[in-house]
Amino acid sequence: TPAAAANFLRPIVQTDLESGKHAKIITRFPPEPNGYLHIGHAKSICLNFGLAREFGGECNLRFDDTNPAKEDQEYIDAIQSDVRWLGFEWSGPVHYASDYFPQLHDWAIELIKAGKAYVCHLSPDEAREYRGTLTEPGKNSPYRERSVEENLDLFARMKAGEFADGACVLRAKIDMAAPNMNLRDPILYRIRHAHHHQTGDQWCIYPSYDFTHGQSDALEGITHSICTLEFEDHRPLYEWFLDNLPVPSKPRQYEFARLNLNYTITSKRKLKQLVDEGHVSGWDDPRMSTLSGYRRRGYTPASIRHFCDLIGVNRAGGVVDIGMLEFAIREDLDANASRAMCVLKPLKVVITNYPEGQVELLELARHPKQDMGVRALPFAREIYIDAGDYEENPPKGYKRLEPNGEVRLRGSYVIRADEAIKDAEGNIVELRCSYDPATLGKNPEGRKVKGVIHWVPVEGSLECEVRLYDRLFKSANPEKTEDGGSFLDNINPDSLVVLTGCRAEPSLAQAQPEDRFQFEREGYFTADLKDSKPGAPVFNRTVTLRDSWGQ
Ligand code: ATP
Ligand code: MG
Ligand code: MG
Repeated sequence: TPAAAANFLRPIVQTDLESGKHAKIITRFPPEPNGYLHIGHAKSICLNFGLAREFGGECNLRFDDTNPAKEDQEYIDAIQSDVRWLGFEWSGPVHYASDYFPQLHDWAIELIKAGKAYVCHLSPDEAREYRGTLTEPGKNSPYRERSVEENLDLFARMKAGEFADGACVLRAKIDMAAPNMNLRDPILYRIRHAHHHQTGDQWCIYPSYDFTHGQSDALEGITHSICTLEFEDHRPLYEWFLDNLPVPSKPRQYEFARLNLNYTITSKRKLKQLVDEGHVSGWDDPRMSTLSGYRRRGYTPASIRHFCDLIGVNRAGGVVDIGMLEFAIREDLDANASRAMCVLKPLKVVITNYPEGQVELLELARHPKQDMGVRALPFAREIYIDAGDYEENPPKGYKRLEPNGEVRLRGSYVIRADEAIKDAEGNIVELRCSYDPATLGKNPEGRKVKGVIHWVPVEGSLECEVRLYDRLFKSANPEKTEDGGSFLDNINPDSLVVLTGCRAEPSLAQAQPEDRFQFEREGYFTADLKDSKPGAPVFNRTVTLRDSWGQ
């Protein structure tokens, strides 16, 4: 097992605790409820909740809900359920940035009174022009020197709904020549006549992300406010608000590199597009990079947490190979998933020298290493093997069944192929075989049988559906496209193959949704959370047995 990679924030937290700077740390995970959580969020969740858990602190769940147009209760519910599924619990109640709207509004008024904020009527295009560029300082807005009284009046009228969306904004008065663009009089409030999922129609002005985030951290007593590197340039503004407002605590912002995973999209906007345009069956389609997608695919929470340990936390960025995530789930399922047999493309085999009507109940271990008990498997005259395990003209070194060749049936006897029955088109529809009664759990006398294949009895096996999932994108960088193309052009057309009429061994009749198995020689499979029913299972391929990509 590869070792966990370093997390540069651990020593920082450790030092802050040892020096007495903080008696206890408080972190937070602050999703915007505008989509489902994806594998990138898992990194942030494991980091924030993980540090709190490791150092005896607390981690809040806070919905960063300042943009009502794109947010929805469905996302709020899904996010909470996904965080819990991943194995974490937040301290106290769920927090909403919208809880702080009244306080933020009061603070905006304080800034106006202190001459540090003003109402600005520049149009977005004009504001862009006044803002300058990285190499050119900006120009002061013509509305910048309004009196405090006029600003208070205009802001009150903004709040009262007297202006249309976009008519004006409230801006901080900082420095239009600041080298850091974020300090060039950033927007504090926008007018948006929109219904909010938490505050209803109470507000028609909404605070900006920048005006909300740090103060929310301060109100919750967050000690380490951890975000991704895009916010590094926002840190001076984050600190400006904390320095210019009577906040109850001084959180500190730290940035880390976001997770980029090859073959994978981790942008809520694009994931939503996949859902909205029907490229997948929903946010929890097993091919999605969402946590609910991985869950349905059969990933365990432990495997995702393990993956997050393996990638570590740093500021360097880069692209992580999806093979590492697949390694993490394969390792977990190899150690913990019950073994079973399922024939994906059944070919009937009649064992002509096995007495008609006779059934032997064989017992097979559920796991080769762990003591997970046994499963009963009836052996009888008629069985199914996989059509791919019989070859009339086998290549050299073929280890499965061929005319007059022998193979071992897993956990059972050695059989010999005597005759293939074909239909009018020449397709093989049945095999006639004979078995060697002296080979149950023993090698045959005087000859070597190399191959072992899986099988199920005809009588008692269970017809089932098997969904073979593969990577949703066929290129390592799905965002990279030919001129004018979109990431949708990189969708792998073979990312889902549905097989019906598969035959599962009888013990799988009891499979409950989310039960996980290694189907011998086929891969790791999970009974689908939504569509699988005891007696009528649907299995999702979680991951192949080995990395077979590109072979
Ligand atoms: P998206 O770009 O998908 O919309 P976001 O950053 O806007 O993502 P938020 O809901 O704001 O989504 O994310 C909540 C938290 O998760 C933030 O602190 C953010 O930094 C973190 N996060 C989001 N994506 C990643 C990622 N790919 N890797 C690590 N952390 C991430
Ligand atoms: Mg965000
Ligand atoms: Mg976003």
